[in-house]
Amino acid sequence: MAEPTGKVVVIGAGMGGLSTAIRLAHAGLDVHVVDRAPVPGGKMRTMATDAGPVDAGPTVMTLRPVFEELFESTGARLTDYVTLHRETVLARHWWHDGSSLDLFADAQASAEAVGAFAGAKAMREFRAFCARAQRLYEAFEGPMMKAITPSQGALTRHVLTHPRLILDMAPHRTLAQSLGAQFSDPRLAQLFGRYATYVGGSPFRSPAILGLIWHAEAQGVWRVEGGMHKLARALERLARDKGAAFTFGNGAARIETRDGKARAVHLEDGTRLPADIVVFNGDPAALGAGLLGEAMRDTLPRDATHPRSLSAYVWSYAARPKGPELVHHNVFFCDDPHTEFDPIARGHMPEDGTLYICAQDRGSGKMPQGLERFEIIMNGPPMADGTQATDEEKETCQTRTFETLARFGLTFDPSPGTEWLTTPRHFARLFPASEGSLYGRSPHGLTASLKKPTARTRVAGLYLAGGGAHPGAGIPMATLSGRHAAEAILMDLASTSRSRPTAMPGGMSTV
Ligand SMILES: Cc1cc2nc3c(=O)[nH]c(=O)nc-3n(C[C@H](O)[C@H](O)[C@H](O)COP(=O)(O)OP(=O)(O)OC[C@H]3O[C@@H](n4cnc5c(N)ncnc54)[C@H](O)[C@@H]3O)c2cc1C
Repeated sequence: MAEPTGKVVVIGAGMGGLSTAIRLAHAGLDVHVVDRAPVPGGKMRTMATDAGPVDAGPTVMTLRPVFEELFESTGARLTDYVTLHRETVLARHWWHDGSSLDLFADAQASAEAVGAFAGAKAMREFRAFCARAQRLYEAFEGPMMKAITPSQGALTRHVLTHPRLILDMAPHRTLAQSLGAQFSDPRLAQLFGRYATYVGGSPFRSPAILGLIWHAEAQGVWRVEGGMHKLARALERLARDKGAAFTFGNGAARIETRDGKARAVHLEDGTRLPADIVVFNGDPAALGAGLLGEAMRDTLPRDATHPRSLSAYVWSYAARPKGPELVHHNVFFCDDPHTEFDPIARGHMPEDGTLYICAQDRGSGKMPQGLERFEIIMNGPPMADGTQATDEEKETCQTRTFETLARFGLTFDPSPGTEWLTTPRHFARLFPASEGSLYGRSPHGLTASLKKPTARTRVAGLYLAGGGAHPGAGIPMATLSGRHAAEAILMDLASTSRSRPTAMPGGMSTV
């Protein structure tokens, strides 16, 4: 393979951008990462509180091997950069009828807990569901998640050689329908249906195959010491150690092309950064919206970025809690999931939403006293109109969130004011062209995962990495997308240098 050469500009220091930057810098390329935010991490952001920075983005770290592999691919060790603790309890779940259920990293402990919660039949159903989720996960991990470009043909061939998967996939059922058939207890169908929201979908409209997300969580969740943001900082440090340069607080305003090929990135302050390769880690919808220049508008077909996935109302604050004993991850379920997802489908805030709470300072063997940090997430619709949230919308969210928790007996002192709330409209401004959608294209529909853009684009030298690109949202998938982008770039560099002077589609000239 030819020695790679060239200047690389990575637009965006989210997980996908950082992951690409690390791999390309390690491969010897000259990598410069630019982000309009003042710090790395993108959605993995924090807010300052009297108890220290509180996470305001992702809280659940799954699929640790994805991060280990990233560090190991450069000869480094993840644990030298960040301290991780495996949680014994995956999450604690509550319902209004007073019932609660802990699920554990240990599969047998989870099965016994489900048995104690809903009886022997539920325990058998849970075991069958776990086995099915595992089969689906293992079947799709290679041809889909870990493939640079998933293809419908490869997928079909794989399924045909494993015919049981057709039953497991339940192609004509939604996740909610499939779970309704798998669980006699509606609380368990509701619990596992919630996993569709991990990729921004409603269980009533997402394909049954999203049941596989449970298997990612069943393999363990890790608490990052100091908060999730430390993981982004760890990736930034590794990228710098490998030689990448960073510019923060300066956005990319335009990608310059010549002869159909990316040539430079123009920053908002007027700086021109020449580039052989440009990696875009922002929401891919920004290209179609013309936010990276008119020449980029036709880079992707519209159905690669639309319709949009869910957004959220996110509270991040410090307070003293009173009430039920919280663990690190907690879920307070609404009575009827339709009161959550039907209003969202119509573009409104849930009337009675399920509330997820991360008690950031708690975890296995960790019980803080006094002021603690919390993040509460209620799903919400994307908001396309670009307006600011009104005081009324924020106050409605405040009432719905904290009155619901009070019904569970959970209160906070002080009770957070609306300055601690991030709304879908706020997310829309933080992540341009996202419409506040937090997970890229919607996962609704059986072929949604095949419609996402892949690392290579129509513009030679322009690549995508991040949760809006294949294999999708969530920090492990965004990190994997960075690997796909880096591999595609290195392959194209090698193939272009072998076949000069002919440029490959999506490739680059090394001249
Ligand atoms: C509230 C919330 C909770 C979540 N919970 C979880 C969870 O528990 N577990 C999980 O795995 N995932 C979770 N996610 C999803 C996860 O955070 C994302 O999928 C992942 O972090 C996305 O990474 P990314 O690579 O797409 O980059 P992003 O985080 O989207 O970052 C993109 C970066 O690009 C920059 N950028 C964009 N345009 C430009 C430009 N023109 N010029 C310069 N810079 C630009 C932005 O400033 C940003 O820093 C959650 C997300 C949110 C918001």
